[in-house]
Amino acid sequence: MEVAENCSVKVAVHIRPLIGDERTQGCKECVTVTKGMPQVQIGTHSFTFDHVYGNGASPSTSIFEECVAPLVDGLFQGYNATVLAYGQTGSGKTYTMGTAIKDGSETGLIPQVMNSLFKKIETLKHQTEFQLHVSFIEILKEEVRDLLDTEPVSKPATPNGNVVKVTVPGRPSIQIRESSNGVITLAGSTEIAVSTLQEMAACLEQGSVNRATGSTNMNNQSRFVMKVPCANVTYAIMHNNCTVSKFLKQSYCRKTKFRSHAIFTITLEQMHKIQAVSAVNDTPDEDMGEEYLCAKLHLVDLAGSERAKRAGSDGLRLKEGIHINRGLLALGNVISALGDEKKRKEGVHVPYRDSKLTRLLQDSLGGNSKTVMIACVSPADINAEESLNTLKYANRAR
Ligand code: ADP
Ligand code: MG
Repeated sequence: MEVAENCSVKVAVHIRPLIGDERTQGCKECVTVTKGMPQVQIGTHSFTFDHVYGNGASPSTSIFEECVAPLVDGLFQGYNATVLAYGQTGSGKTYTMGTAIKDGSETGLIPQVMNSLFKKIETLKHQTEFQLHVSFIEILKEEVRDLLDTEPVSKPATPNGNVVKVTVPGRPSIQIRESSNGVITLAGSTEIAVSTLQEMAACLEQGSVNRATGSTNMNNQSRFVMKVPCANVTYAIMHNNCTVSKFLKQSYCRKTKFRSHAIFTITLEQMHKIQAVSAVNDTPDEDMGEEYLCAKLHLVDLAGSERAKRAGSDGLRLKEGIHINRGLLALGNVISALGDEKKRKEGVHVPYRDSKLTRLLQDSLGGNSKTVMIACVSPADINAEESLNTLKYANRAR
């Protein structure tokens, strides 16, 4: 019951190093860490969090071990959990979560979650039956899209005829439902049963590819993802009347701005055999029945938190920006309500219904579930304003 009694929201800050662009522009670092303390300074502002990583901070162990491993343990005890990466575009959310295909795939949190999950299952499987499912969705403009929906709708051929798989990324047909006992389900979303680490990793990769294709500034129609078996490029985007080769050139490596919240969810079901111990000789008696547990872990790579005015000049992006802010705004309000003990005791209303994001995470934020928010910041002076906004937002969650 330890999990249920601890404070349910923890906030960590992850400061990435200066990266290429910032270095070549001659940026200076403007975010500093107090030695030996989880405290961050920017300008005249100072904030204290549960943990601080990067930029000379010296935490006793890794983000995964300190912040996320306890949530994985909780999953085996039947507790839902949520890990959120918050921050402006380019601050390191995807790198931290490991949601991308290449970046941080070895060190990101999701791959580490997967590793520890399967290791733990290996040690317990003699006494417990496990079933794992994953889903991967994104929320864009208050619409839920399925990133694992691979149902073929047509089969366009590449010039050399090498069509392996055709996908329409994220058809928006998913409904968020709440059952009478408060369990949130996503009606219409793809849930893939996985039994190995490789299968789970493949789902992450497939969804990441679909997210990347959906995030570019193209039309919404006629978009296909294809697996093209050529030397260095595994995936290419084909769109309307553009040729495959043209797209191979521009292709997948193009820097895309993710305006959506991406949610990778692992559901763990357990059937545990309960054995009674014989009073006579201390040996296990016959089976007394079974205990069923089901819990889920949401790993969320949130949309960039930068203000709409910075999001781009075209009206479309601006509209997205407004919606995204709605999700992040609602999340901030929910987490702040949950983190405030006084408010909690007074039974203050938690505004889950204000956005799709908070609605979807409702049964995994608050209550018995554990939440970790990782605020990602760039240390560069050109990003000081957004970094300060991020730290203020994260500070509200405490
Ligand atoms: P976001 O998802 O917030 O837009 P990314 O995760 O894509 O940001 O990171 C932006 C860039 O910074 C990428 O090139 C990434 O490789 C790099 N980066 C992010 N975090 C780190 C880190 N901790 N160490 C080194 N490079 C990082
Ligand atoms: Mg990203």
